[in-house]
Amino acid sequence: MNKGKKETLMELARWIKESQRIVVFTGAGISTESGIPDFRSPGGIWDRFDPSELSYPNFIANPVSRRKYWEFYREYWKGATGVQPNSAHRAVADLEQQGKVMAVITQNIDGLHQAAGNSPAKVLELHGTMWEVRCLSCNYFYPWEEIFNLLEGGREVNNCHQCGGLLKPATVSFGQSLPVGTLQEAQRCSMNCDLLLCIGSSLVVYPAAQLPETAKNSGAKLVIINRESTPLDSIADLIIKGEAGEIMTGVLELLEQV
Ligand code: NAD
Repeated sequence: MNKGKKETLMELARWIKESQRIVVFTGAGISTESGIPDFRSPGGIWDRFDPSELSYPNFIANPVSRRKYWEFYREYWKGATGVQPNSAHRAVADLEQQGKVMAVITQNIDGLHQAAGNSPAKVLELHGTMWEVRCLSCNYFYPWEEIFNLLEGGREVNNCHQCGGLLKPATVSFGQSLPVGTLQEAQRCSMNCDLLLCIGSSLVVYPAAQLPETAKNSGAKLVIINRESTPLDSIADLIIKGEAGEIMTGVLELLEQV
């Protein structure tokens, strides 16, 4: 690690030490080192699927799009089954153990924060979870494995056996509203935190990307950890470029020295 980078990590370690109410805000980039590709990096999911075709209005209106959507999920479930949290997820869980974390607001649908040890009550899944399938009409729950096995067997997903409604993974698609209560709680935490640590989000998907701005405008320090630049770099108090796992492991080690 070069000297400049170590000093930057030291600065973050000091800020973490001083903070009592940290919000960790994560995007797909925190999970790439676990083997789940993000959407926008080269080789990401949008290279193979057209996001506009997988939108919520298309899912509702068009059986062909629905089939494409399930094809996408079959592939996604297959790729994410058995995937383990990485050192960045574990570092976030460690911060919660140290009593520092007010909330982990995530755009991710993979459940890896909870798998790393963050308490489910603190993890706010803005875009839902891929590990549940629900009826859009009556909210009846279906185990994802049941639907996955259907798809693997080359069969179609039937409508809800309770009410005839459409089934869909419990995730938020483009054109679909975010869960109101979760979003409100995320806004409340962003307004009341003293440090917002943004890890691996391109910060282009709204309204989620509004939350780091809310935190900054409410007086919190904003730190952005990403391989690439983001649209909020200009308002960040600290930008750390690189791999989330290495950076978070380094910061946690330094936390013992500051
Ligand atoms: P995104 O694909 O738009 O951006 C990912 C960001 O992470 C990029 O800016 C990239 O530079 C950065 N990144 C990638 N790997 C990194 C690493 N190892 N270390 C540091 N930075 C890294 O993802 P997004 O901003 O989260 O928005 C896309 C939406 O897609 C999300 O809302 C989410 O619902 C969904 N999504 C979820 C998952 C998941 O659950 N794991 C995966 C893909 C997409």
